[in-house]
Amino acid sequence: MLASLTPATSRPPVTRPLTRSLYAYAVAILSEVSAETQAKARASGADLIARAKEGVEEIQPSEAAVELDGDDAVLVDVREQHEFEERHIEGAVHVPRGHLESRIEQFVADRSKRLIVYCASGNRSALAAKTLADDLGYEDVTSMAGGITLWRDRGLPVVTPRSLTQEQKERYSRHVLVPEIGLEGQLKLLDAKVLLLGTGGLGSPTALYLAAAGVGTLGLIDDDVVDASNLQRQVIHNTERIGMPKTASARKTIEALNPDVEVIEHNLRFGPDNVIELLSDYDIVVDGADNFPTRYLLNDASVRLRKPVVSASILSFDGQISTFVPYEGPCYRCLYPTPPPPELAPSCGAAGVLGVLPGIMGLLQALEVVKLVTGAGTPLIGRLLLFEALGTEFTELKVKRDPDCQICGPGAPQIADDELGKFPDYDLFCA
Ligand SMILES: [Zn+2]
Repeated sequence: MLASLTPATSRPPVTRPLTRSLYAYAVAILSEVSAETQAKARASGADLIARAKEGVEEIQPSEAAVELDGDDAVLVDVREQHEFEERHIEGAVHVPRGHLESRIEQFVADRSKRLIVYCASGNRSALAAKTLADDLGYEDVTSMAGGITLWRDRGLPVVTPRSLTQEQKERYSRHVLVPEIGLEGQLKLLDAKVLLLGTGGLGSPTALYLAAAGVGTLGLIDDDVVDASNLQRQVIHNTERIGMPKTASARKTIEALNPDVEVIEHNLRFGPDNVIELLSDYDIVVDGADNFPTRYLLNDASVRLRKPVVSASILSFDGQISTFVPYEGPCYRCLYPTPPPPELAPSCGAAGVLGVLPGIMGLLQALEVVKLVTGAGTPLIGRLLLFEALGTEFTELKVKRDPDCQICGPGAPQIADDELGKFPDYDLFCA
């Protein structure tokens, strides 16, 4: 048996040193045979392509471009998904060669239609064209010589669609799988600029989840430092960060979570002198303020600048949230034309708070932001959602725009450009 496998040119076994075992000799011969078989397989692969090219019409890229201008032919890209995503010819339908038989009919049902097939270099497209013509009955199939490589070399245009990097594809794969978000929604999230007013009880969970979701730019406004009493609810901070500015602490956590997010620290006090400038750079504002002057100031500025605000607040075991999109729904002042008297408006600093509650409300805010950015679902515009934590009860109230609203009502005074950013002394509202 071994003898019959021995090629005529191989070393005769009798001349081999006796130390060489028969086993090693057999392995050596078999590997030679296997190399020969592989060479044969390579040759037959090349033959196959050559034969396909002989039996299939080939077209030059410049001719294909002229035909495609005429709009009569269908251009079929048979490369793999990642190749198509990197670049392709405009208007091409994408049917990877491995899915040709099962998918081509979805794109081209009419078998008399002229098909121009292309790949990277013209080989796979020749094989695909042969399959389309011989096995699938397409009557007028041509393969583009040289593929998209030659097409580009000839100076013809290609489309390079925007996509996610390989790392981003893995990181956001569970978003991309959700039809309401998908690749398009994820790209919108990556482009979004969201400003968070406060990185405390509400801002902490909101910032964490928005960062995880891949919101590309997060602005953080806070002039406070991390205190031990914050850690019972402000989960973006930690024990080691006590004494550190909250914006810096939040930034560290966000950057460790998701390097895609650019964090912009606004380690300052939000006020009439900086509100317009701060809001101007962002698409959406998340209101996690803990005092009424700030809420009114934010509302009035956001209506003037037409920036949506996702607003939540908590008091003892109650939380509430709404989304204010200027002129689409009511504004904060439509709901609360005047601030409550000071005795009814304790801040979290003075009153106790159940740590989980701002977590829940902050995450509802993050959810609203994702919906506003991606366009998925129905945001809380014109709806005030109340949450009572002890009974675990949600209540929804419909809220309408107030025609007499001094800020967004039709009778609201027009604000001249030089008056923008000039607000009454909001500090007078609160004791
Ligand atoms: Zn209003």
